[in-house]
Amino acid sequence: MPPKLDVISVIKLFRPLLEKIDIDNVPEEPSHQMELLSENRQYIISGLEDCVLSVCRRNFKSKANGFYTFSYKEYEGQPIYFLNIYVNNSLFVSNSPGLRIERRRTIIHEFTHCIAAFLSIGRLLTDKLIDDLVKALISRVKINAEVHYQSLLIQFENAASTIALDIFPDEHFRLGYEDFDYSFSVVYKQLTLDRLIFEKYFTDDLRAKFINAIKKGNTANASAILRQALSELIANEAISADFINLRLREELIAYYYRKAS
Ligand SMILES: [Zn+2]
Repeated sequence: MPPKLDVISVIKLFRPLLEKIDIDNVPEEPSHQMELLSENRQYIISGLEDCVLSVCRRNFKSKANGFYTFSYKEYEGQPIYFLNIYVNNSLFVSNSPGLRIERRRTIIHEFTHCIAAFLSIGRLLTDKLIDDLVKALISRVKINAEVHYQSLLIQFENAASTIALDIFPDEHFRLGYEDFDYSFSVVYKQLTLDRLIFEKYFTDDLRAKFINAIKKGNTANASAILRQALSELIANEAISADFINLRLREELIAYYYRKAS
């Protein structure tokens, strides 16, 4: 049985895999980017040595940005579990900042679904409960496509909600077999922007200046210092300003503020 995971260990385990996907160089079908999880010791320990992540873009008939599928094949008596991420070609018509933000958002969203599937598969395999549960997984993936459609409708009704930022609740990602007590919604948000990514731009120097300004009670100055980090962050990491504001409000500002007091 692999060790029980929390959010930090899930991020640590799967971020290296996510980072292999270059949002600007996703191959077009019939080409695929294939990542064999057996190449990483950590995934073997987690029971994922028979899993493959595949990523490609294709022309969709629908307006969806992306979806994922799960399939299971036997190759010379050896089972292989495929998690396939498909991204709509419409997100690649140019390299505009808006499209790059959509690409990254879509890939991280579908990747979070894959994490839920990986955590389920890892657990199923170690518990040796394969066939029926694999079938159940496939049907859950199909149900999920419906959920995406529903949420698309909601987005047009309530553009200001978190759904407009493509932040889905835990139950949207959860398959039900994971041994994971935390929220996949949090996993998604951390993969998109956590302190590690933020501090590539909010550097030691800026952090020291920020803390200093807070100590002097000069919040206007502190906020200006914080903003210096943002434009480069938005451009380089392809994260929307709205999403960054959300993460600043819910976690990051509080964290740096506490450092000053
Ligand atoms: Zn989804």
